[in-house]
Amino acid sequence: VGTLYIVATPIGNLEDITQRALRILKDVDVIAAEDTRHSQKLLQQYEISTKLISLHDHNEAQRGKQLVERMRNGENVALISDAGTPLISDPGYTLVNYCRDAGVKVVPIPGACAAITALCAAGLATDKFIFEGFLPVKQQAKEHALSRLIKQTATTIFYESPRRIEDTVSMISEVLGADRQLVVAKELTKTFETFYADEAQNVLSWLQRDPNHQRGEFVLMVAGVENEESDIPEEAESLLLLLCDSLP
Ligand code: SAM
Repeated sequence: VGTLYIVATPIGNLEDITQRALRILKDVDVIAAEDTRHSQKLLQQYEISTKLISLHDHNEAQRGKQLVERMRNGENVALISDAGTPLISDPGYTLVNYCRDAGVKVVPIPGACAAITALCAAGLATDKFIFEGFLPVKQQAKEHALSRLIKQTATTIFYESPRRIEDTVSMISEVLGADRQLVVAKELTKTFETFYADEAQNVLSWLQRDPNHQRGEFVLMVAGVENEESDIPEEAESLLLLLCDSLP
């Protein structure tokens, strides 16, 4: 039986790939990639001629089964995504589960991940953090997701698109307060890498000040609130919240 390797690739700077990842990508029988044309550039850079096949959200169920068959017949497969670590807001979950069900070994080859890259240099608390991926697109669902952070004490990490970053920061300012501390990490590992840390209202002004500030790829981090010891017992507090909900 072959092996599935989950291989992390760079999130911008092509040097951010491990020696082990390069060796695995050279040695496997086939590389499953989200966008084969995009990944071809990385392979060319490192003179890797392994065959690529596509595996994305829309064909993962069917393609995944074919790949598991190949691994059961002894072939080794590497899974990569367009950037960073596969399965982190990227395809691969179905394939990994097929492999686990079929008794095919799954081996992670660690490397870049935008969430961790952003967090480790943001200056926010790292002892407890939550990764939320992308927020819902629909306004109401997004507002609901954000409202759950009102009392969150851990740092929360989001991925955000340039089309929505302004709207999201504006909503954070409304829902979590204009003074909630945020860090925007933009274009990580690339030429115009930027960290901007300030209160939500000031991050919003910074985004609006220059259209260039809204271009590129973003990780958005929301600071947790201070863990204040409440004078009200926990049970009484949840009862109060329930009562508030039923008020007109
Ligand atoms: N699997 C990837 C990882 O390990 O980070 C994430 C893939 S997800 C589809 C793409 C999102 O990740 C982007 O919209 C952005 O929010 C974030 N991202 C990826 N590369 C980034 C970079 N160089 N700088 C900032 N954010 C980045």
